[in-house]
Amino acid sequence: MEVKTRFAPSPTGFLHVGGARTALFSWLYAKHCKGQFVLRIEDTDRERSTQEAIDAIIDSMKWLELNWDEGPYYQTKRFDRYREVIDKLLAEGKAYKCYCTKERVDALREEQKAKGLKQRYDGHCRDDHSEHSPDEPYVIRFRNPDDGVVAFDDMVKGHIEVKNSELDDLIIQRSDGTPTYNFCVVVDDWDMGITHVIRGDDHVNNTPRQINIYKALGAPVPVFCHLAMILGDDGAKLSKRHGAVSVMQYREDGFLPEALLNYLVRLGWSHGDQEVFSVEEMINLFTLDAITKSASGFNTKKLEWLNAHYMKSLPAQTVAKELVWHLNRIGVTDLSLGPDPELVVKNYCERTHTLKEMAQKALCYYQEITEYDPAGVKKWMKEGSVDVLKDALATLSALSSWDAQSIDAQLEIIAKNREIGMGKVGQPLRIAVTGSAMSPGIGDTMMLVGRERTLKRIEKAIEHFGA
Ligand code: GLU
Repeated sequence: MEVKTRFAPSPTGFLHVGGARTALFSWLYAKHCKGQFVLRIEDTDRERSTQEAIDAIIDSMKWLELNWDEGPYYQTKRFDRYREVIDKLLAEGKAYKCYCTKERVDALREEQKAKGLKQRYDGHCRDDHSEHSPDEPYVIRFRNPDDGVVAFDDMVKGHIEVKNSELDDLIIQRSDGTPTYNFCVVVDDWDMGITHVIRGDDHVNNTPRQINIYKALGAPVPVFCHLAMILGDDGAKLSKRHGAVSVMQYREDGFLPEALLNYLVRLGWSHGDQEVFSVEEMINLFTLDAITKSASGFNTKKLEWLNAHYMKSLPAQTVAKELVWHLNRIGVTDLSLGPDPELVVKNYCERTHTLKEMAQKALCYYQEITEYDPAGVKKWMKEGSVDVLKDALATLSALSSWDAQSIDAQLEIIAKNREIGMGKVGQPLRIAVTGSAMSPGIGDTMMLVGRERTLKRIEKAIEHFGA
């Protein structure tokens, strides 16, 4: 049978690291098995679901390239189908209308609580055939089996067994006519032919209830795989308090999707002690039995390390695509005003840790510089510096080939003639052409700035500092 997995987020907020990990594991397993991956938006909670959250989820999935084969399906577009299944369950006596008022249900709970009993609906309306007026509100409950147990073998948690007597008659349709999560998820997974449900272990308690619904529908029960939660650096449940937890925030902070995916795959899955995995490797190696049982801890330092690794090791062209996104964000709209972004990547991948930082440093190649870094000026713009700039302007203007090596060679001659170190030549020039004293080798820097612009900037600096 073809494996089919799904990622089924509720669009009540951005896609966070935990959700992205669930999406990745579901996607990887489908890919590993050459199966299908479905994206389903569980938006039945209309109060809390927003279009903004849907967009954020889809943007994040696209950025991570977790491409889906089917969907996105929206639960709110499937209400007719849920209605149809509910009607069938009602007709078969597997579900029933419950007219109990909120007051009655609350009082029942209080009573059970006082007696130290498990709080659950007492089945009052199960066999209530009394007449009700059409405008009397009701919910629809699933008739949970009275006896026996529900058992399943979770791929991570192992064998789980719950007595039916422990389970409630679950509400499957609210009094406003909308179906509830535990019901929709079953109908969807059944209709969509989902074979493996991979999700966070906050849903493990729902699973026995859902299995009873599958059985009542005569639907095949999928394999379940509940992932242990992710903890923050400090051992507490990962939350906003731990800094960036939204996938798009990581993008904004300058991380590469390859780094984040590699980082996420190790949150609860391992292959020996290997830490670095290309996406292709992840797909080849990913199996459910290697998922770890215990909660995994978030480690920002490791993510940063992976990011630095991928900035250096991925093809410059791949990294450049992401750099362009960052450049756009900080106002560079016309890339033709500066160097090919791939050249920026090649020159900066060892010198910066994130793409955000790289874009900031590269701004001087695409936009005019508006100020000179005061600390750099204080340190390097000394007596004689303007003369160095003048020498450089003269020799570089005459240079026929504008490449790093030729530029460096000319500047070395200036240093030699003036009997000064290369620092005293390179640093004032760096300030002149980039605004700061920190950049790649001066020849490379000038190559990135470009011939015309370099010469103009040196002239401008001569005017500025020579006055
Ligand atoms: N919509 C649920 C959530 O976002 C997931 C349901 C499921 O995966 O079964 O938590």
